Amino acid sequence: MLLAFHKPWGVVSQFTPDGSPNRTLAEFGFPAGVYPIGRLDADSEGLLLLSDEPALNQKLLHPRHGHRRVYWVQVERIPTPAALRQLERGVVLGGHATLPCRAWRLEPPPSLPPREPPIRFRKSVPDCWIALELVEGKNRQVRRMTAAVGHPTLRLVRARIGGFGLEDLAPGRWKALSTAEYAAVLANPGDTHQPSLEIFAALQRAYPDAHCELNHRNPLELLVATILSAQCNDKQVNLVTPALFHRYRTAADYAGADLEELEALIQRLGLYRNKAKALQACGRKLAERHGGAVPRSMAELIELDGVGRKTANVVLGNAFGLNVGIVVDTHVARLSARLGLTRQTTPEKIEQDLMQLVPPSQWTLLSHWLIWHGRRRCFARSPDCAGCELGQLCPRVGV
Ligand code: SF4
Repeated sequence: MLLAFHKPWGVVSQFTPDGSPNRTLAEFGFPAGVYPIGRLDADSEGLLLLSDEPALNQKLLHPRHGHRRVYWVQVERIPTPAALRQLERGVVLGGHATLPCRAWRLEPPPSLPPREPPIRFRKSVPDCWIALELVEGKNRQVRRMTAAVGHPTLRLVRARIGGFGLEDLAPGRWKALSTAEYAAVLANPGDTHQPSLEIFAALQRAYPDAHCELNHRNPLELLVATILSAQCNDKQVNLVTPALFHRYRTAADYAGADLEELEALIQRLGLYRNKAKALQACGRKLAERHGGAVPRSMAELIELDGVGRKTANVVLGNAFGLNVGIVVDTHVARLSARLGLTRQTTPEKIEQDLMQLVPPSQWTLLSHWLIWHGRRRCFARSPDCAGCELGQLCPRVGV
């Protein structure tokens, strides 16, 4: 029997009191005979497994097995890419070097219920969420790691063990895992024997030159082209952008554009009236807030008109080489499902699953591989499975 429990803050990972005012597992009505697999400190929250199978303890927790756990960590200040790389390479804690891990920014922050009691913010200090994927869990390791690189932990949530995530399990609730969920716990998404890695290797072989197919010469042009690409294919966008980019060269040009003239230049695209308004408003914000430059952060980009997380990921990854997330468009969503890379259906959750599968340095490339394969082979209506480069690697889910 394997149970998943969303441990709230202030609960110790044991059934008997430890002498502190903290609550214990005894009050949550677990079946007799189960015990927690590993610990989650009283001031940490998230996924705690309980089982009556002693062998699971070793299998899931010993670093020798390299079984991965993902923690979401709210930290003080915004870590630089260098600080994240330092976490990945390992930091020295009390004479012990931590094992290599993965670390990345979570933008937007994970959707979690507020903590009870609330965390203590310092109003003058910004904060953000990062994810850490580890294969070891020494005493208060995550908190000590973030502190070691200058980012004290404010809130800590264990989000995933193996391939099983906390998902919508509410704090204080538990459930018995199905056979498939049990298998997901035992799966190890970063394992080099995972089929997903073979799939990505095959895609890389098939599309060694995969790149963004929207024509552009600078970040502003890419931003404009990506806004125009909503519900249109890239070829259609590439037909209108030469004249558009010739007429409008700066953010101020878009801000001051005559709406009718702008509409006329893009009228062969669907939703052209809305897109023209978005370009004009986007140009205004770029001119007013960013001196006409395209900003380099997710938070600033999604404030612009016509820009959502997908567009921001396109711009960050392709104009600036910043791997903040993974572009999930219709191709990426469709292929991720068919290839068995996720069972999620919303772009945000698909993106989170994909981010577990490859290192951050490959996030932009991964979306290119999937988009190229979706355009050239794995079509929405009639996928060309007979000629597919992925052959037997693909489980063809739903095909
Ligand atoms: S085998 Fe078929 S379903 Fe799978 S990726 Fe190839 S074309 Fe798509």
